[in-house]
Amino acid sequence: MTDTRETELLAHVPDGLFIGGRWRAAQDGDELAVEDPATGEVVKRIASATVADGVAALDAAVEAFPAWAVTPARERAEILRRAFDLLQERKEDIALLMTIEMGKPLTEARGEVAYGGEFLRWFSEAAAHLQGRYGPNPEGTGRMIVTQHPVGPCFLITPWNFPLAMATRKIAPALAAGCTVVVKPASLTPLTTLAFARILEDAGVPPGVVNVVTTSSSGPVSEAIIRDPRLRKLSFTGSTQVGRLLLEQAAHGVLRTSMELGGNAPFVVFDDADLDRAVDGAMAAKFRNIGQACTAANRFLVHRPVADEFARRVTERVRALRTGRGTLDGVTIGPLIDDRAVRKTGELVDDAVRRGATLRTGGAPVDGPGTFYAATVLSDVRPGSAILAEEIFGPVLAIVPFDDEDEAVRLANDTEYGLVSYVYTQSLARGQRMIERLETGMMGLNVGVVSNAAAPFGGWKLSGLGREGGAEGIHEYLQTKYTLTADP
Ligand code: NAD
Repeated sequence: MTDTRETELLAHVPDGLFIGGRWRAAQDGDELAVEDPATGEVVKRIASATVADGVAALDAAVEAFPAWAVTPARERAEILRRAFDLLQERKEDIALLMTIEMGKPLTEARGEVAYGGEFLRWFSEAAAHLQGRYGPNPEGTGRMIVTQHPVGPCFLITPWNFPLAMATRKIAPALAAGCTVVVKPASLTPLTTLAFARILEDAGVPPGVVNVVTTSSSGPVSEAIIRDPRLRKLSFTGSTQVGRLLLEQAAHGVLRTSMELGGNAPFVVFDDADLDRAVDGAMAAKFRNIGQACTAANRFLVHRPVADEFARRVTERVRALRTGRGTLDGVTIGPLIDDRAVRKTGELVDDAVRRGATLRTGGAPVDGPGTFYAATVLSDVRPGSAILAEEIFGPVLAIVPFDDEDEAVRLANDTEYGLVSYVYTQSLARGQRMIERLETGMMGLNVGVVSNAAAPFGGWKLSGLGREGGAEGIHEYLQTKYTLTADP
């Protein structure tokens, strides 16, 4: 049940599509229901865009592009900075909204507001520092000028697991670069994006520069936008399966694409690691966001001499976690996003146990309303178990022992993904070897959370294309022009 504060907050969240600076209903009046995964109750109904609405949003982005592209960078930067400030003012509301629609504990939702907000600040600074190059060509026969230009109208598709940060990580660099955008949040968690669009509106983003389409028809609405020849860029965060499909659609218009896809992160603990730190890191890397993060540690590879002790200590910590609605004090494990996620988590655990893993704690859905699965530890997970190959996306810590460094590297790289890897060792030489040997876009060395607005976030192999954040992030939304001028 939502309380009075929640009811008031939900009533203030816009329920329309945001197109060309106006909030409006879907053309056919269609709506979608947003549920609280901790209770299963519908908390709000909002507009569900048709294909025509999606195209109207692109029309608005196309129309707004020429003026926004030449708006002085300092002005674009100041709008982003105002959005950052407004987000700080409304951080409690945005955090609570995320907890209601997505389920993460409130303290983590506040953490996401802090993390997500940093992209606004970082890219407001980056906008004002964009530069080109000028210089003589090597032959001395001319001058080369290299300039950067916004790619054009962009389509940004975000997932449900980080409703704010995945939006700011795309919208902030796009706007900083001078692009206009159509944003399509996940239909499971659209409210945070709508509340954030209101912040952008209040911060002075001109009409049409940011447009939001919420829809329960993601496939057709997205495809119409992606196949429209006026679109110049697609940025997607979500599953590899959907990413592949969208890349096929994007091939038609030879779109610039950024793909932040799935992960299967190894968390490697060597026998020379500081075990206290490794256990702390494991808890963060595994149970943050109820395990529903692309960066979540999926496979705990532990050196055999410390494997038992590591399993004992994490099991003790996991037994002390508190499961419940994320708004309740002390709750560390919220609900999974839906029934499907509970079923899938259960299937992976059951398969691992059937193949010989030891179940140390948890191992079952939690009775009652909401979609909860108990925090779980499995040790001695056997090769061939599905849990080692697939993204778990649930609160399950699976331990596999290894005997030496070569085996650790082989197991860590034995995945089609390559988003992030975590390594715990006190040996500098070993740490350096692991940096060189692991096939991964990001690495946490003696640390369990790597995300930072100043860092290039992204993966190798099936984990995606491109980088978000850092100096690299804005270049995803810029295209290069080289001009040769005759010798003066
Ligand atoms: P998903 O692929 O099901 O959905 C992502 C988004 O795509 C949502 O907005 C959804 O509505 C939309 N979508 C679904 N089908 C579509 C279609 N046919 N056409 C267009 N859009 C479509 O993923 P999810 O379940 O929302 O998110 C979880 C996945 O996202 C995991 O695989 C996770 O690893 C990944 N993820 C990756 C990162 C990263 O930065 N690499 C970050 C967060 C999540």
